[in-house]
Amino acid sequence: MFRRGLLVVLSGPSGVGKNTLLNLLLARMAGIRYSISATTRPPRAGERDGVDYFFFEPEKFLAMADAGELLEWAHFCGHYYGTPRSYVEGSIARGTDVILDIDTQGAALLKKKLLEGVFVFLMPPSWQALEQRIRGRGKDTEESIKERLNRAREEIDHLSDYQYVILNDDLERAVGELEAIILAERCKVVRNDVAGFLAAFFAKN
Ligand code: ADP
Ligand code: 5GP
Repeated sequence: MFRRGLLVVLSGPSGVGKNTLLNLLLARMAGIRYSISATTRPPRAGERDGVDYFFFEPEKFLAMADAGELLEWAHFCGHYYGTPRSYVEGSIARGTDVILDIDTQGAALLKKKLLEGVFVFLMPPSWQALEQRIRGRGKDTEESIKERLNRAREEIDHLSDYQYVILNDDLERAVGELEAIILAERCKVVRNDVAGFLAAFFAKN
């Protein structure tokens, strides 16, 4: 049965484990791709251009935003972040699901535009765990850690705008829950071309 791809939006405070969860999900689930964001933030150690992000100068980023080439974009802790439009729209039109890791500002913009999105929020088990994870990642400066922890409160304030919440205490269980949400969304009648399927189904009888 043909259906358009899902647009799955994953948000949560910086350091909660969005990247870690996505990598595990993408390694085990077929039919879904990660949308690589554009950003003006400098790469962290080990991050690769075109893999983790497209790293752009602010001029180039803002030119893309002006040209309508970003599906959404936001300013987060001193840098711009945005979702390249053509990759997402092309994948969805072909029936491939796409998952985005974006902040709550970007998610709110998409929620207004796209009725069919699936909005998932990843929560840390405690404030202490969140702080330990950001520090444990070992890739941010002290200033950036403080900024992200401040911003984390604002991100968590938007939890009730989401359709699903996953507690990232046990990583394996959290990945299983994300996978279950996506599998259930794929089976929704309204997301499938039921009319086309039924026409073909009865034409053969
Ligand atoms: P985000 O993408 O949300 O900023 P990361 O995926 O970079 O977060 O994770 C931040 C840190 O937390 C990483 O060092 C990661 O290994 C760790 N982490 C992620 N999930 C868990 C978990 N369930 N339990 C313990 N540590 C975790
Ligand atoms: P980080 O610098 O830790 O990689 O990301 C910081 C924040 O930016 C995270 O909350 C992440 O979800 C968000 N982010 C990453 N890409 C995008 C994007 O394309 N658009 C928006 N709005 N936020 C993004």
